[in-house]
Amino acid sequence: MTKTLRLAFISALIGWIWLSSVQAQENSPRDDPKFQRVEPFQVFDNLYYVGAKWVSAWVLETDQGLILFDSLYGELTDIAIDGIRDLGMDPDDIRYLIVSHAHFDHIGGARRIQDEFGAVVVMTQEDWQMTDEPAIYQEYPKPIRHLTATHGGTLNLGREKLTFMKTPGHTPGVLSTSFTVYDNGYPHAAVMFGGAGLNFEGVERTQMYLDSIAFLQSLDGVEVNIPNHEGSGAVFERLEALTTRKKGEPHPFVDPEGWTKWLEELSAAAQEKMIEERSKL
Ligand SMILES: [Zn+2]
Repeated sequence: MTKTLRLAFISALIGWIWLSSVQAQENSPRDDPKFQRVEPFQVFDNLYYVGAKWVSAWVLETDQGLILFDSLYGELTDIAIDGIRDLGMDPDDIRYLIVSHAHFDHIGGARRIQDEFGAVVVMTQEDWQMTDEPAIYQEYPKPIRHLTATHGGTLNLGREKLTFMKTPGHTPGVLSTSFTVYDNGYPHAAVMFGGAGLNFEGVERTQMYLDSIAFLQSLDGVEVNIPNHEGSGAVFERLEALTTRKKGEPHPFVDPEGWTKWLEELSAAAQEKMIEERSKL
């Protein structure tokens, strides 16, 4: 082989490798851990982001162990587990996994978190029920039924107290949770709304969703939105602001007006959906 020919061959080979890796990503960037990986980061004294780009996972640290919110799915679950380790914590300390709802992107890694770390999985009765039925969007290893969260139920771990709220619509048993986060020791009321997407059908479910939004709007003093999809709470944008925050400046995740505005937007979108659903009858 002449030198020129060899160079041409090598550059064609590199081109082909590059092209196939791009194509592999384009096939499923959503499910690709390389594409989806986000450096884990601390948001509050006791709360960390260990999620992916498109779907979130959060760790609440207590003096008696860790509480993981959502498990990601497939190979993306590695992002949460590696993230916990990279932040200097031990996944063996995960005491509870709170699953916001039984769609693959939140529940998909639950069985693995149970099996590998002995975590107790918490979900509502309605969404445990979903695990007995065929998965809607994507299959996942079914977790063993552990704890059932009820509306108004609480869970204590160390000094942390979680309060559960059933906010159905997105699924029949969406689980929302309120808890306290600390900013340099100063407490703030945080809520995770467990299912904000309007990808469901029917007047009845839409009404459930509207009722859930109304319930969340009735909660007093919510200051922090902890979303289970990054996009629902501008997590990465707020992180940018957090990294450049100067001493004495407000915490960019403490945003009561943002919470209120978000719920208003969700309510307006659901009212539009209701008109559509009614027109189908
Ligand atoms: Zn969902």
